[in-house]
Amino acid sequence: MTDLNKGSQFKKRRRSKKPTDQIQVAVERIEILFEQAEGAFKDNPELSDRYVEIARKISMKYNVPIAQRYKKRFCRGCNKYISCGANARVRLNSQRKYILITCENCGKKMRYGYTKPAKADE
Ligand SMILES: [Zn+2]
Repeated sequence: MTDLNKGSQFKKRRRSKKPTDQIQVAVERIEILFEQAEGAFKDNPELSDRYVEIARKISMKYNVPIAQRYKKRFCRGCNKYISCGANARVRLNSQRKYILITCENCGKKMRYGYTKPAKADE
């Protein structure tokens, strides 16, 4: 939100936004889809990709962000579901405190910072 004071009003414009309950439903659906994607991955990775695709569409349609913990679950290059160790490589950089995830489908590298020197995920 870096909008300059357009009209300098404090009133929030809600016209372009969807009602809050719909947003709540969208957030929940995204969560469910990612959980299903995780569950389906072993048997049917293509189904996981579909779930990610649907989750992304919901996210865009309702303009709700995908939670940080789920963002690590799909590739920003090819949008496929990624499972660390299966179709993605994970490396930790403990000096700079980030996780580097490399998608093995398209080779895209994604970097995520972390604060606690914990395990890569979970
Ligand atoms: Zn990829």
